Amino acid sequence: MSLGRVLIIEDEELIRETVALALTEEGYEVTVAADGRAALEILQASALVGAGGSSAYSNVNQTAPREQPDLIILDLMLPNISGLDLCRLIRRQGSSVPILMLSAKGTETDRVVGLEIGADDYMTKPFGMRELVARCRALLRRQQQFQPALPDSTLVFQNIVMYPQECRVLVKGNEVNLSPKEFKLLELFMRHPKRVWSRDQLLERIWSHDFIGDSKTVDVHIRWLREKLENDPSNPEYLVTVRGFGYRFG
Ligand code: CA
Repeated sequence: MSLGRVLIIEDEELIRETVALALTEEGYEVTVAADGRAALEILQASALVGAGGSSAYSNVNQTAPREQPDLIILDLMLPNISGLDLCRLIRRQGSSVPILMLSAKGTETDRVVGLEIGADDYMTKPFGMRELVARCRALLRRQQQFQPALPDSTLVFQNIVMYPQECRVLVKGNEVNLSPKEFKLLELFMRHPKRVWSRDQLLERIWSHDFIGDSKTVDVHIRWLREKLENDPSNPEYLVTVRGFGYRFG
């Protein structure tokens, strides 16, 4: 299951591919564009920019609308059409898709111009991937707050049933008591069955800002969860160790 669709518009291949890889690993569905024109075609195909907006590029196939991105990462300096112009076009169309602008220039003027024409956030190169991922997550979260929340449906996996809104978990029909961290960990696993998580990814997702520690913490919580969920905790069926990588559920 994808956490959201991200469109990356960046002409520097190394940055484009590194960002794409980092976001894909986080569970996002990533589309890339290497210059302004390619980006415009994608934006027009997803109806984020009107086809008539720029007559010079009107040869775009409009028959198959793409799904709109949930977030756009937009480099400022691009061949063909600049990031600023793309940002203006998107906002002129009335779209409120979050835009994270990237720039090699770090002057205050660039930042102000970027934000004034409708970017939601701004990062100066070089930047760390963890910070970029954290900012993407924050932008998507902010966006989701303006949209009606989806009903929190019950999660079921074989003998395990979770009611996220009630913070309850049943195993073979019997209620089990989980600590808040164990609950969050299990919820993450159940929402992404079969996905392999590294210890660092789990630390960041579950413990995030209130914790600086090592991956042993994850192992300890996995062991406790196994004792509460598994038929045979020393031979787990649900919380499986993936040697050299981390853990997966199911
Ligand atoms: Ca560039």
